[in-house]
Amino acid sequence: MRQWPKTRARFLRAKEVMPWGVTSNFRYWGDDQTIVVSRGEGPYIYDLDGNRYIDYRLGYGPVILGHGHPAVVERVSQAIRDGVIFAATTEWEIRAAERIIRMTGVDMVRFSNSGTEATMHALRIARAYTGREKVIKFEGQYHGHHDYLLFSTAMALRQPMGSRRHPIPVVASSGIPRVIADLIITLPFNDFEAVERTVKAKWGDIAAIIVEPMLGNSAAIMPHPEFLPFLRRLCDEYGIVLIFDEVKTGFRIARGGAQEFFGVRADLVTYAKAMGNGFPISAIGGKREIMMTIEPGAVAHAGTYNGNVVGTAAADATLEILETTDALERAAQAGERLMKGISEILTEAGIPHAVSGHPNMFSFLLNFEGTPRDHRDTMSSDIELYAEIGLACYERGVMFEVDPREPWFTSAAHTPEVVDETLNRFADAVRAVLR
Ligand code: PLP
Repeated sequence: MRQWPKTRARFLRAKEVMPWGVTSNFRYWGDDQTIVVSRGEGPYIYDLDGNRYIDYRLGYGPVILGHGHPAVVERVSQAIRDGVIFAATTEWEIRAAERIIRMTGVDMVRFSNSGTEATMHALRIARAYTGREKVIKFEGQYHGHHDYLLFSTAMALRQPMGSRRHPIPVVASSGIPRVIADLIITLPFNDFEAVERTVKAKWGDIAAIIVEPMLGNSAAIMPHPEFLPFLRRLCDEYGIVLIFDEVKTGFRIARGGAQEFFGVRADLVTYAKAMGNGFPISAIGGKREIMMTIEPGAVAHAGTYNGNVVGTAAADATLEILETTDALERAAQAGERLMKGISEILTEAGIPHAVSGHPNMFSFLLNFEGTPRDHRDTMSSDIELYAEIGLACYERGVMFEVDPREPWFTSAAHTPEVVDETLNRFADAVRAVLR
């Protein structure tokens, strides 16, 4: 079993200087469990005591090529020798924008630094374009930590959330002004009837439908094959901007992201995570007419660090590799092997389960029968057992989020040998928990 005296000691120091010892609430796993990382390499991360973990959190999704990928690190290192920000357009931005456009089919791109900024600005563009204010989002989806969309996320939905037919927006943090709730309509994912009824009644107020095309923050639940085309048709009919939040799926589930994978085009798309292999960068892409709503002096899109050389050079290198090599296919091979192997281990252990998602980001629900459709389905799964198995894996050097709503992410660095080692440890953890 793992020994980690240095890690524990430094975590206690971290708690003195940062609330809960972390800089994002999701990273706090409890005083006895929260990791302090010294470095990462390929599929592995190491704590301060040198314990190695096979990493399936991958920074919550960005690290598609593996930690510290030499070609990405090299391009960024070279680029930043000439400076990092200039409050001006750079060649790196143009190159990164051209790659995104080529890979995804969007017409134009604007950069920012995080998924949160991208979705926040996408809403502003949609509101400015339509002159309407309300937004539809789906239960269990997460679009970042700004006030406008921090409702009915997985964490929030432990509170009363209304009936399935008439859900109420549940605020996920105190500190968010009550008036914002008036701008949000939350609906169950994959529910054709609820969406149609709402749009028909309120379309004159609805600026946008924002959707994670597959539920990257709720057990990687897939859309019904007709659901995204249905949203597309409704948005066209009622003049609503369809926003795909591809912060997790972009450049991960296909070179052209969810738009390519599901064969449906959105009006605006937000990208982040995998586009920079972990370097901070995000983008809004979309149709020219809608993107051109951004206008100096009229519709604001700004940010001192937008398009900085660190992020755009990282995107240039990462996207080049994703576009021209089999990196995504290798990540998918790892995922397929894991999905199959995990399912076999659970079956052998007598645990009913549902595996959902795409090999490059997948989840499984325990003591669950059938196919999950929406966030509410995940709540009837055995979340405690999942957490117990997750912690037992963590003790054995395999790290994934201990909540089934956060998917496992794979990378091109997860070789078949790494996957087999994972499955051996996973099987051992399941045996230990059931013993
Ligand atoms: N959108 C989705 C779908 C996400 O999963 C996330 C983060 O996990 C965000 C937006 C927010 O991105 P960031 O954490 O970079 O602000």
